[in-house]
Amino acid sequence: MQLFRWCAESRPAFLLLLLLTLTVASGCAGRSMQQEPVVVKRTQMHMGTLVSITAVAADKQAAQTAIEAGFYEIKRLEQLLSTWIPGSELSGVNQAAGKHAVGVSGETLELVQRSLDMARLTEGGFNIAVGPAVEAWSVTERQHIPTQTELQQLRSVVDWKSIQIDPEARTIFLPRQGMRIDVGGIGKGYAADRAVDVLRKAGATGGVVALSGDIKTFGDLPGMKGFPVGIRHPRQDGVVVATIDLQDEAISTAGDYERYFEQDGIRYHHILDPVSLEPARLCQSVTVIAREGTVADGLDTGIFVLGPERGMELVERLPDVEAVIIDVQGRMMVSSGLRDRLRYP
Ligand code: ADP
Ligand code: MG
Repeated sequence: MQLFRWCAESRPAFLLLLLLTLTVASGCAGRSMQQEPVVVKRTQMHMGTLVSITAVAADKQAAQTAIEAGFYEIKRLEQLLSTWIPGSELSGVNQAAGKHAVGVSGETLELVQRSLDMARLTEGGFNIAVGPAVEAWSVTERQHIPTQTELQQLRSVVDWKSIQIDPEARTIFLPRQGMRIDVGGIGKGYAADRAVDVLRKAGATGGVVALSGDIKTFGDLPGMKGFPVGIRHPRQDGVVVATIDLQDEAISTAGDYERYFEQDGIRYHHILDPVSLEPARLCQSVTVIAREGTVADGLDTGIFVLGPERGMELVERLPDVEAVIIDVQGRMMVSSGLRDRLRYP
């Protein structure tokens, strides 16, 4: 996946979790006086970014075992889904583009199917076939502004509607040479969901899995309702625009500040509008809250492309989905279900 490479992603996540870190520390301190569950947090690099797992469990050993199982699950998924690993399942699908269908695991198939659902929901704003255009821009590596001719030539290979899935045979076929699947805009949310399943099964009563800005929570911190998470200011490093307590929910942010370069006063960032194949211009950041990380992550990227009006309309239509959208002028829009839940600094 494109996203699995860029380490610059780790900083927003750190900011997002600042509040959580403070709370976790106090949770640990309270434990020695009462028979409260323990809270343990560990951080490792996976999928090209900092991954933090926090577990609430009856004792330290149980929390650590759950955390290890969570990291193991993320590593396992990376082996299936990363397009930076030549032997991954998705790399196999991409290498066979224009040639033949490739058999994949149920999980890879599920993620690609759910990505196509997100593409339909966001009218193509979210597009897992946009990888060749992402590469043409190489926002972090080359800082190259492609010409219109270069972008035109990519049109036929970014067509997500042509991706062929056979659920019975469990195969994926990319019908044109040069096509590629890039789950960079949804894969970390999916990994957070799967890791939370594993933490629960391992006996954790609560916890947080955070892959950079893609965060999924379950249960509660001892003595609290849920887990507090901050939404960062897209233009002021270290500033939080609002805080929310999440309970059995996921949160994900797509922002134009994560990976970008500037030329002649114009910001070129890593989220592309699949119609123009240029950086999407309507938002500075989109934060989505949903039950599943897969939905929150897929929608944040898709809504970033759709823009504040169409994006908020979609959010209001979908059950159990909320959003905070900061538009290109810096104006903040909050969905109706969040208005009583956000705390402002
Ligand atoms: P991250 O948290 O990695 O910034 P986002 O959810 O913001 O992830 O998605 C950005 C990544 O998704 C890009 O780096 C690229 O790999 C991919 N991408 C860019 N534009 C789109 C798009 N319109 N649809 C789907 N994926 C995209
Ligand atoms: Mg996303």
